[in-house]
Amino acid sequence: MKLTRPDYAAPADAAGRKGLAPVICYPVETLPRPDLAAYRAARAGWQKTGETLVPPREGRCFTVPAGHFFRIRSIEGPQVGDLNLWNAANLSERFYSGKTRALHGTHLSTGDQLWSSHPYLRPMATITDDTLDWYGFDAFGGSVHDVIGTRCDPYTHNLLSHGGQYHHCCHSNLTRALADARALALPAAEALVHDVLNVFMCTGFTRDTGQYFMKASPVRPGDHLEFFAEIDLLGGLSACPGGDCSAEHSSDTAACHPLLVEVFAPPAPPAGWQSPAENGYDRSHGR
Ligand SMILES: [Zn+2]
Repeated sequence: MKLTRPDYAAPADAAGRKGLAPVICYPVETLPRPDLAAYRAARAGWQKTGETLVPPREGRCFTVPAGHFFRIRSIEGPQVGDLNLWNAANLSERFYSGKTRALHGTHLSTGDQLWSSHPYLRPMATITDDTLDWYGFDAFGGSVHDVIGTRCDPYTHNLLSHGGQYHHCCHSNLTRALADARALALPAAEALVHDVLNVFMCTGFTRDTGQYFMKASPVRPGDHLEFFAEIDLLGGLSACPGGDCSAEHSSDTAACHPLLVEVFAPPAPPAGWQSPAENGYDRSHGR
C-alpha cells in the first residue's frame, strides 16, 4: 500500500503531473456489444430445466448449454458466492477475471460480459439481470459483484494466521466441486480453479491506502444475478464461508446460507444471436 509518509519530497511540478485527467484504458464502445433487448425478449416462455443447491461453506458445479440462461439466487439469508466458469468442452478455457475488470470495471452488472482466458478471449456469459443494480457505488466506494477479490483460499489464510489449516475456503470448495463433477484428482482440479466473480459481495478499495475492503452484502432472499450462456458452460459456485462477508472469512464463525442456481431454456435463441467464435488473433506473435 502507499506510504503515508513518502520517502521522497514532491517535485515542483507535482500538482501539474497529478492533475492530468485520466484516460479510459479500454473504451468499450468498440467492443461488439450484446443486444440486451433481444436477450431479455428471449426469456418469454422459458422453461426451467434444472437447479443446483449449493450448501453453506461448500461448492457445486452445474452445466448450462450455450443459448440458455442461469440465475444465482439468494434464498435463505445474505450470502456471497464465488463463481468460476469453464468451457464445458475445454476446461483450459476459463473465466478471465483480470481482463474482464480491465474491460468493464471493478464491479459488474447488467450488460457486462464475462470474458475467457487467452488465447480464446471471447464472451463466455452476459449478465442479463441484476436485482442489486440499484446499489451503484456507496459513500465508501463499495459496490457489488466484484472482479477484484480473487477468492478466499487456504494458502493466504495459512500465511495470515501463522499456520492455520482451514478447508472450506472458496478455493477448496471449488476444487472439490470440480474434482467431483469431472472425476479429477484434487491437484488436477485445483490447477483449473481460477479468480472468480464475487457474486453479491460488497467490496471496494479504501480511498487513503488503496486496500481491498469488504462490508456486509446488501443481498436479501429473492435477489438474483442472471446470466446468458454464450458458449457451453461448466459453472462452479462456492457459498463463501464468510457468509455475507461483514466480518471475516476463512473460518466457521460467520452465519452462512445456501445459494441456488437455476437454469432456464428459452423457446428460441435471442434474435440475431450467434455463439461467439474464439478470438481472431493469429497467434504468430511476430514470428
Ligand atoms: Zn470465499
